[in-house]
Amino acid sequence: PSKVNVAVLGATGSIGTATADVIENLQRVDPQRNWRLWAASGHRNLDELKTISERFHQQGQPLQRLIFSSPEAISSAQAATRFADCGLSEHAFAFGPEALCAAASDPAVDIVVAAIVGRAGLESTLAAVEAGKRVALANKETLVVAGSLVQRIQESSRAPILPVDSEHSAIFQCLADSKAVPTKLILTASGGPFRAASVEQMQNATPKDALAHPTWQMGRKISIDSATMMNKALEIIEARWLFDFAADQIEVMVHPQSIIHSMVEFADGSTIAQLSPPDMRLPIQYALTYPQRMSCPAPALDRRKTYDLTLLPADQERFPALALGFQVAKSGGTSGAVVNAANEVAVESFLNEQIRFTDIVPLCQKVLENHTYDPNPSLTQLLQADRWARKEAQHCVG
Ligand code: NDP
Ligand code: MG
Repeated sequence: PSKVNVAVLGATGSIGTATADVIENLQRVDPQRNWRLWAASGHRNLDELKTISERFHQQGQPLQRLIFSSPEAISSAQAATRFADCGLSEHAFAFGPEALCAAASDPAVDIVVAAIVGRAGLESTLAAVEAGKRVALANKETLVVAGSLVQRIQESSRAPILPVDSEHSAIFQCLADSKAVPTKLILTASGGPFRAASVEQMQNATPKDALAHPTWQMGRKISIDSATMMNKALEIIEARWLFDFAADQIEVMVHPQSIIHSMVEFADGSTIAQLSPPDMRLPIQYALTYPQRMSCPAPALDRRKTYDLTLLPADQERFPALALGFQVAKSGGTSGAVVNAANEVAVESFLNEQIRFTDIVPLCQKVLENHTYDPNPSLTQLLQADRWARKEAQHCVG
């Protein structure tokens, strides 16, 4: 019988654990294809990595590769002891960031779920694209940092890149069933916890306030990105590269209920949208099973309920991140790497209470203004731009 081996990089995170649910579901609803969690990686959260390893061992399907991407987190001797009862072969253990790339390009792997957060996911995602794997892409930062490079590599490897990000999955779903090319991609945004907040309220926002997302349960970094709407900025850039659309063909509307995940508009003014209750297991599963659709643990709309579906224009005054996103989507080159790096440092600094919430986006703008733009960077130059921007951002933090 055929087998589908999935490598989940960032298995211990919010997307990673939801992916484990999806694989378990597919083992049930699609038994012919023999879905396997072949590899899983964790960085600091070794308890969660243990839980996942045990869970699949108990089902008689132990992992074939267990990746400890942070070499400082655990030694190989400690790992062997701590994970002794997970049914792993001695060859299953792998350590360090290189092990992520090795798993992403391993001949045994069919699908790579790129679920590491931030620039840390770049190399392994590139390795998966280069190896021609089906890539279920959650790590939007890879496209923000190196979108044109990913496009180029994908042109020769023909790796199918399937979006996991709910907005991009929605657009992909709207396009999958249409022969016409849309004129606009309309990303929806919940508006985050500060959708209706005043600038003053945002100035005084604590990390706890900013982490309290109204509709989605997510990792810390993307939760802060949602509050600043930098997440939507990153998604504008992600859409620009993923769908090869110009920045001025991408728009944003606020939709607080997170039911309409995004829309596409056609030449005749008709708009097609994708709707479902907010649950990442749906876009994750679609990225794994496309073009097929299978029964999914994520709930469908409940016909006995009343749904209010509000669509509002986005407020670019209170959320300057949006203009920044459009600017970077237009300019490309090194600007994505620079803004992404500055944002990663700024988010971390805000979570450590070194800067205010409303300092995050201006800090990114400032680092972007100070950088020497290169329209056609190599990977080495992108990584250099990333390192420069981190230093510059750190300098702004003080
Ligand atoms: P989490 O913070 O929940 O998980 C991040 C994962 O990355 C964890 O497995 C973590 O390991 C691992 N990780 C962290 N740092 C490193 C590193 N330096 N090297 C290797 N691995 C590392 O994030 P999310 O799951 O929320 O987000 C993951 C990606 O998916 C992000 O790019 C995000 O933008 C995107 N995304 C997430 C959505 C969501 O609903 N959560 C929705 C759409 C996109 P550990 O925990 O063991 O330290
Ligand atoms: Mg999203």
